[in-house]
Amino acid sequence: MNRVHLPRSLEGAWEILDRVPEARVYAGGTDLFVKLQGEARSRAVLVCLERIRELRGIRDAGKHVWIGACTPYTEILSDPSVQEHFPVLSDAIRKLGSPLIRNMGTMGGNICTASPAGDTLPPLYILEATLEIRSHSNTRRIPVQDFILGPGQARLEPGEILSGIEIQKGHPYPVHFYEKVGQRQALAIAVVSLAVMMRLSEAGDIEAIRMAFGSVAPTVVRPLPIETQLAGAPLDEKTLREAGAMLQAHLFPIDDIRASARYRRRVSANILQRLRLRGKASMKDSHRFGP
Ligand SMILES: Cc1cc2nc3c(=O)[nH]c(=O)nc-3n(C[C@H](O)[C@H](O)[C@H](O)COP(=O)(O)OP(=O)(O)OC[C@H]3O[C@@H](n4cnc5c(N)ncnc54)[C@H](O)[C@@H]3O)c2cc1C
Repeated sequence: MNRVHLPRSLEGAWEILDRVPEARVYAGGTDLFVKLQGEARSRAVLVCLERIRELRGIRDAGKHVWIGACTPYTEILSDPSVQEHFPVLSDAIRKLGSPLIRNMGTMGGNICTASPAGDTLPPLYILEATLEIRSHSNTRRIPVQDFILGPGQARLEPGEILSGIEIQKGHPYPVHFYEKVGQRQALAIAVVSLAVMMRLSEAGDIEAIRMAFGSVAPTVVRPLPIETQLAGAPLDEKTLREAGAMLQAHLFPIDDIRASARYRRRVSANILQRLRLRGKASMKDSHRFGP
């Protein structure tokens, strides 16, 4: 049997964590409770963060948006600032789990689980999100890519919790999208995922681009040399084929129950061709709605 504490304030949480340093925190519990089922007769002391007001909600602070680590996905999806400024994040959340999982699960849980398949991670990498980490005596900030060390490993000290995610507004990339290839349409864990933000010229060439891949290495991969290579290139089949070949040097996929490393490599190169479709669709939209 697990003992569960339900503090209503951060002060209450610190009091328990000081008294029981081995206690495990959770928010929605959609990852932790699956894990605990695998630990026979777990007697872990649990601290539920879900009711702590300081860890929930979304604030538009002018230059950036702050998202409480324990805000359920459904709330993030319905937030107008997130919809307007970070469509790539909304797109990824819509493809994460099921309505039930999105009602309970949180971005804080997805980040701290540090799975290479976590759907919010590629968008957070290209949005260059900063994480706010709090302990009883300190608050620190760290870029998301420095926080995640490997599968299930994050730079979180005992007694620390992830309190919020800060994302700068005003990224000059009008086209945002998230692609996820899984074994089925619904409730699929990503075999390969790709988050993209890009800007095209009037002629349809790539002016600037950011991209990050999930599930192809121990942590999310942001292939900066390919972003540089693509800037200024025509958005055509040949450019993307060459980028797909170059990309292979940045990938370190594994064979697992969902897919082989070879398959992940091939899909990663092929999925780049989606840029053409998304680019064309955005050009059509801008002609339809433009001046
Ligand atoms: C059926 C099912 C389908 C799923 N589908 C997907 C999917 O499509 N894509 C995907 O990415 N994930 C999926 N998941 C995994 C999971 O739902 C997500 O990772 C979710 O975001 C976890 O959030 P949570 O709040 O439930 O985390 P929890 O289970 O509460 O916590 C997860 C881990 O993070 C730690 N933690 C949580 N919050 C904090 C905090 N604020 N500070 C410090 N540590 C913290 C906990 O100690 C725990 O180790 C699925 C899970 C299930 C059960």
